[in-house]
Amino acid sequence: MGSPWSELLANLAVVAMFVSAWIHTHVWLDRLPAPVKAVAFGVLMGAGAIILMLTPMQLQPGVLVDLRATMIAVAGFFGGPVAGIVAGVMAGAFRVFEGGIGAFAGAVGIAATMLVGIVGNLALRGRSPGMADIMILGAAAACGSLLGLSVLPQPVIQTVLPEVVFPSSLLIFVSVAMSGLALYQERRRIEALQSRRIFKAVVETLPDCLNVKDLEGRFIAANPATAELMQAANAKALIGKTDFDFYPSETAREFRDDELAVLASGVSTTIEQHLHHEDGTDAWLATLKAPFRDKAGTVIGLITHNRDITQRKQLESELAESQARLGDALTHMADGLVMFDPDGRLVLCNGQYRAMFAKTADIRVPGADHRDILRTSVARGESVTPPDAVEAWIAEIMALQTIASHRQIRLADGRWLDVRTRPTGDGGSLSVYSDITEAKQVEAELLSANQKLNLLAHRDGLTELLTRRAFDDALAREFARARRNATPLSLLLIDVDWFKRFNDLYGHPAGDACLRAVSRCIEATARRPADAAARYGGEEFALILPETDARGAFVIAESLRGKVRDLALAHAGSEKGIVTVSIGVGTIDGGAAIEIADLLRRADEALYGAKAAGRDRVHGWRPHLSEPRPGASHRKA
Ligand code: GH3
Ligand code: MG
Ligand code: MG
Repeated sequence: MGSPWSELLANLAVVAMFVSAWIHTHVWLDRLPAPVKAVAFGVLMGAGAIILMLTPMQLQPGVLVDLRATMIAVAGFFGGPVAGIVAGVMAGAFRVFEGGIGAFAGAVGIAATMLVGIVGNLALRGRSPGMADIMILGAAAACGSLLGLSVLPQPVIQTVLPEVVFPSSLLIFVSVAMSGLALYQERRRIEALQSRRIFKAVVETLPDCLNVKDLEGRFIAANPATAELMQAANAKALIGKTDFDFYPSETAREFRDDELAVLASGVSTTIEQHLHHEDGTDAWLATLKAPFRDKAGTVIGLITHNRDITQRKQLESELAESQARLGDALTHMADGLVMFDPDGRLVLCNGQYRAMFAKTADIRVPGADHRDILRTSVARGESVTPPDAVEAWIAEIMALQTIASHRQIRLADGRWLDVRTRPTGDGGSLSVYSDITEAKQVEAELLSANQKLNLLAHRDGLTELLTRRAFDDALAREFARARRNATPLSLLLIDVDWFKRFNDLYGHPAGDACLRAVSRCIEATARRPADAAARYGGEEFALILPETDARGAFVIAESLRGKVRDLALAHAGSEKGIVTVSIGVGTIDGGAAIEIADLLRRADEALYGAKAAGRDRVHGWRPHLSEPRPGASHRKA
């Protein structure tokens, strides 16, 4: 052994050597399971402890100390319980094998420092140790090794202890701190390496482009996504190149201008870039450009991150296009269209809709309330509704919004609108308005034409009374009803007196005019809706009087006769001097079981009776007079 200083250095060198051996070799064990690695660390540290025990330092003559505690504590603290136990057991076994009076004390010291290392490791609970932790470990290891000295025989303690305690504790502390620092640095290096590897993996797999350029625009670093975007072989192929090497010069120039702007401002900027590839394809990028600074803060380049937003841009332009198309369709459609949301707010409408409601066009705009629109429309005299029923009308229209409906509305100015409403998926409504005023006019014309046609078919052309055919139908109908309801039914047969002579005297046209005049009298007499007047034939008329008994029919017949007299149409061929009529009244009572023909015969016989009795009179049918006569008609053949 040399001087204590050289022995000390040698001991520290052994510690450093073993720690350094671990630092340089542990990566070889990275692939092995963690416990194996821990055992290896323990073995190495245990071996170190044994070597240190073989090369002790002589602090006093006969007093030998060594730095085994450092190796054992470091093994447990950095390698965990397994490494700590392996190193401790190795060192302990060797110490016991060496023997001597200090064997037991040595084993106690070894056990104590082993526990210090292991407990320290567990106390970290998985986190990386810091500088303070290492200092505490150094102090604890020194104390642990002192524990060994405390079990030495009393005389030994008294002689050696005072000289040994302080220097040996200090040495252990220093060596633990030294090796701990080395292992701490190594761990930091490994962690930094790890995180660099993670960053690298992230950047490499990032679908977005990430690259760094120098001030001249040359790539310093780039990820594979950048290479892909630039259609380069790989990321390495970009290094040292600029955009001008990959893009058409116009595009590259634009990009360079964007970069220069960021470099000049020194501020990160997000922009959208449109790029044209050499192969003619197009792309859109959302680009973030940030100045890249050195440690002193000087801008030395540019970091670029860009994301391909070509698809988004495409969708945006497709959306804009389809919106424009929809707008176009709405503008050019012939119908008015309006959409309300579930709260009754107007969502959209086209120009036609607003043009249809010109008086309220100013309030028929997005956001307007449906009820307000309706109320204003009534107030401005556009929509028609009874003044006291406005709210009910509004409620009815609002209710119609929730179901599929089809209605026609008439505006105050006479226009007709056809409204088809459909509920929308979100609880609102969509209505289509068509102006059907013209169609309505055509419909009205058609209706009146139809009525005229009906008149022609069922009305006599000269008198406008029912035709004989229509009379037959009406009589059959009323006859059946009288039977069913057991009500009376009367029939008047009216014949103009001496009409042949009238024609002869005044001419046929005058005869026609006379017949028309008599017809108006008949119409004026038949006041009830169910009464039906008909031209029965020639100058003979019939009047059906439902629910009218003989007495009532008589009164009506007399009234008619009076009306014709009141016409006072001159008739020189008649002894009366004016046009008169004779009327025969036939009646059936509810219950009587007779046929239509019987009723006609009764009226006909009564008329015959009136003629026979001198004309210008009303005759009813009387049973005693109704002897069967050949032909059963008074009419001349
Ligand atoms: P009576 O008092 O007995 O009924 O005598 P009358 O001349 O009225 O009797 P008759 O039934 O013989 O005459 C009917 C005449 O009515 C015959 C015909 O010239 C005339 N007549 C029938 N239809 C028309 C018509 O549509 N227009 C005109 N002007 N005369 C008609
Ligand atoms: Mg006549
Ligand atoms: Mg006649």
